[in-house]
Amino acid sequence: MSEQTALRPPGLHEARRDPVDDGFRTVLARALDQVTEGGDARTVWEALGDHGVLRGLYRDTDTGDATVDPARLGALLHAVDERGDNGVTLTVLVQAASALPLLCTGTTRACTALRERVLDGRATVALAATDSAAPGSELTALGTEVRWDERTLHLNGGKRWVSGAGSADHLLVLARHRPGRHFTSFTWVLVPASAAGVRIEPADTGGLLASAALGHVRLDDVRLDVDHLVGRPGRAMASFARHMATERLAGAQWAVALLRRTLTATRRHLTARPAGEGTLWHNAAIRQDFAACLVRTEQLRALVEATVRTADGRPDLNAAALLKAAVGQTADDVLSRCAQLQGADGMTAGGAHHVRAEAAVLGLGGGATELMLAHVADAADVLLDGPGPVP
Ligand SMILES: Cc1cc2nc3c(=O)[nH]c(=O)nc-3n(C[C@H](O)[C@H](O)[C@H](O)COP(=O)(O)OP(=O)(O)OC[C@H]3O[C@@H](n4cnc5c(N)ncnc54)[C@H](O)[C@@H]3O)c2cc1C
Repeated sequence: MSEQTALRPPGLHEARRDPVDDGFRTVLARALDQVTEGGDARTVWEALGDHGVLRGLYRDTDTGDATVDPARLGALLHAVDERGDNGVTLTVLVQAASALPLLCTGTTRACTALRERVLDGRATVALAATDSAAPGSELTALGTEVRWDERTLHLNGGKRWVSGAGSADHLLVLARHRPGRHFTSFTWVLVPASAAGVRIEPADTGGLLASAALGHVRLDDVRLDVDHLVGRPGRAMASFARHMATERLAGAQWAVALLRRTLTATRRHLTARPAGEGTLWHNAAIRQDFAACLVRTEQLRALVEATVRTADGRPDLNAAALLKAAVGQTADDVLSRCAQLQGADGMTAGGAHHVRAEAAVLGLGGGATELMLAHVADAADVLLDGPGPVP
């Protein structure tokens, strides 16, 4: 074959096609249409389960190695974001991108039974990794302990800032089964929220992300059957890292949806706001400012799409850290600028300033931006040696 015939003709590049063009979006829209305005995270999850959207997100849920379809995950987050309730989107994101896939690593009866109910939207599970005894940026210093004998697990400790803690039926708790920071010292434990010894206090966010039901969890001598261990003891950090890469991609997908939605609202505001002979939109400085925000958002979108195209189910850890660092560098700037461009109207309840404050979670949850930048620096050789930007 000559070199020329090996090249695909311009415009027919496979990757340009909508990778979700298979009816998934239709079913997704139908599911969300069923949820009334203001429906909470649990109702949204139930509708997604009812219509088969959750089962349609993954391959291999029954082999202990659930893999998310990254393009479908992006479609889900865009559709949920359109509802305009960031707390709901955050809860769906954490569950779909990491909590449920991590639960699927468990093959005991307790884990598989709950997995099926969660996939059907009949139950919800929150991810409780950030620990009361250590900074979230130093997970391996966590203090929550699990020990077990032949039949019973004993769990003690505390978890902070858990999305969905106030509404979830179960918590997936990261605990240590031996002292020290070695990555094999940790284990996931499935904890029913109603178990004796579990106490959940709502996190006071001053109204931010209210529908995420954020909470802090106390675990005081919680006793459970040993089949509440999730996956092999010692494998928790390895599986967490793999699934956290998907959560980082999901965060970037949500960020793009949120930025585009905010830019659209900002443009609507500017074109309706009378100024001089026209509107604020006719002011050259404002247009430049807005355009710069749009350019940065589209740069982020291009990076997300390139990552999705190469991910084949699970993004590479380096690519996911790079993407999350890019979100941290872009989202806050764009949202702050949009809020400023909306003037005093940006200060209304649920307005652009509120959205900007809620979106701070994009630079924290799943790893602070600074940690992502440290990862990018550590992986600089690999990232620079990798394939070029054209997928
Ligand atoms: C809205 C929201 C939802 C969340 N949902 C969940 C959830 O569902 N489950 C869960 O387990 N956790 C959740 N978290 C917790 C989240 O993962 C942690 O907030 C995050 O890991 C950062 O940990 P920290 O808040 O303890 O910050 P710290 O570790 O105390 O860090 C504070 C700040 O110090 C700086 N910093 C820290 N380390 C470094 C470093 N090495 N280099 C440079 N700068 C550094 C960064 O600016 C960082 O933001 C959520 C948090 C929020 C805000």
